[in-house]
Amino acid sequence: EALDKLIDLKGSIRVFCRVRPSISTSNLKTKSPVTIEQEKIAVRAVGGKKDFSVDRVFDQESTQDDVFHEVKPILRSALDGHNVCILAFGQTGTGKTYTMEGTNDNLGVVPRAIEELFSHASQDSSSTYSFSISMLEVYMGSLRDLLAPKQHLSRSTECHTMCNLSILATKSGAVEVEGLTDVAMPDIKKANQWYCRGRRSRSTSWTNVNNVSSRSHCLTRITIRRSGGVTEEVSKLWLVDLGGSERLLKTGASGLTMDEGKAINLSLSALGDVIAALRRKKSHVPYRNSKLTQILSDSLGDGSKVLMVVHISPSKDDVGETICSLGFAKRAR
Ligand code: ADP
Ligand code: MG
Repeated sequence: EALDKLIDLKGSIRVFCRVRPSISTSNLKTKSPVTIEQEKIAVRAVGGKKDFSVDRVFDQESTQDDVFHEVKPILRSALDGHNVCILAFGQTGTGKTYTMEGTNDNLGVVPRAIEELFSHASQDSSSTYSFSISMLEVYMGSLRDLLAPKQHLSRSTECHTMCNLSILATKSGAVEVEGLTDVAMPDIKKANQWYCRGRRSRSTSWTNVNNVSSRSHCLTRITIRRSGGVTEEVSKLWLVDLGGSERLLKTGASGLTMDEGKAINLSLSALGDVIAALRRKKSHVPYRNSKLTQILSDSLGDGSKVLMVVHISPSKDDVGETICSLGFAKRAR
């Protein structure tokens, strides 16, 4: 309860930063240019030292438990009827998927959130809850339904599945992706089965284009229905593994990869613009500039809670991208 209040006081957008452990490929241990002191991050670069501050920093030793501990109060907001958006941002390879999905031994935010929702539902005797899940991938402006029934996954209908989805705004101001599969999660086992299925279809998607997952956004939506007596409240919990934020590939970028890089960069900067506008309480929020921001538009604004986890690399080689990512975080704060 106290934590809820704290979040309200601090506004509805929070920014965390997580530093990936170093993966040493050489025997020579070079000192990381990234240093952390409480909620401040300092990065040593050619042009001098740059300082950034965020709401919470998770250092290289941080565990999935540490991260989830800070995410939990925001889940409470979703259970209380607010739309919530948790977004993992950062350069490819910095741990976005690790934070959101995790591994079998170290579960990430999504499976832990699912568990938490069911556990809360079983303890709250004054309301009944029901949950459903949707998963979609946004790639170069196209949407792909990751939980579409199997027969839709044949080659000829695949394009149909991904091009057919359109984004609608309803009269009440809610946003809906038309035709997106939404499946009930009657229990935690079924919930995890659907989540695994969505992840599997993400990795086999888009025919054989190499490593597309780093250049697409993966969105998981959990719809929460809470009824207590006569009223029913519906809220959405979005868990988003964003495409890699690296700037256009250094060498050999051409054709498809160049376009892919541009598409990701455009949608991430559109997201940055939306968050910056909300942060500054601007009357015009530019949701329409990308599919990503359109889909999330009713979960980023008034009454909703946003948590952005910016992931950075501890490596000297990545210092340029690290500064860019922290610059993105700074705009959001
Ligand atoms: P991204 O999704 O940002 O491209 P990944 O989540 O795939 O990055 O992480 C790259 C690799 O580093 C993976 O093998 C992942 O398991 C590992 N990794 C990332 N973050 C951590 C962490 N905090 N602790 C342990 N391993 C991590
Ligand atoms: Mg990833």
